[in-house]
Amino acid sequence: MHGIIENLIDELTRLPGIGRKSAQRLAFFILSMPEAEALAIAKAIEQVKEKARFCERCFNITEHVLCEVCSDESRDRSRICVVEEPSNILVIERVKSFHCLYHVLLGALSPIDGITPERLKIRELVERVGKGDIKEVIIATNPNTKGEITAQYIKETLAPLKVKVTRIAYGLPMGSDIEFADEVTLGKALEGRREL
Ligand SMILES: [Zn+2]
Repeated sequence: MHGIIENLIDELTRLPGIGRKSAQRLAFFILSMPEAEALAIAKAIEQVKEKARFCERCFNITEHVLCEVCSDESRDRSRICVVEEPSNILVIERVKSFHCLYHVLLGALSPIDGITPERLKIRELVERVGKGDIKEVIIATNPNTKGEITAQYIKETLAPLKVKVTRIAYGLPMGSDIEFADEVTLGKALEGRREL
């Protein structure tokens, strides 16, 4: 008995923000749950690992070839919002007035860590913009050093294409992560974007 509970606790501590104490609490909670409910969590994890893939166009997470955003014909298709991670899309989507397309870089430039432009989906962004129709590229990388370097690099890379490149205005504190922005702050940041 001891072994399997310990094992579950060990596995749960792999999750971000889950220390030993929280893991213990969660493990004993799972143990007390009705079997069907507990297995539904396990099943959801299994499904996401089996079926989740990157959208071929924007690198959002999807279970299809194209994600929900790319398949949505009602969207403003003249603007692409560039973000670092797929989870950032969920945050920006909470800003109700803002329904553009996205492009996920899958990271931010960090030469020290070996994250060079080739490691990110920058070439794919340039290709998308190069196809025309895009009037504005809104860069919503995080307001920290890596995010700023990435924004500048994209601006320079897109320069020959003569597309308008804007950076979202950060009422967000410098050095932070857009994950933690509330929708009002983020809505203002999008409204107040400035040309790079
Ligand atoms: Zn997509």
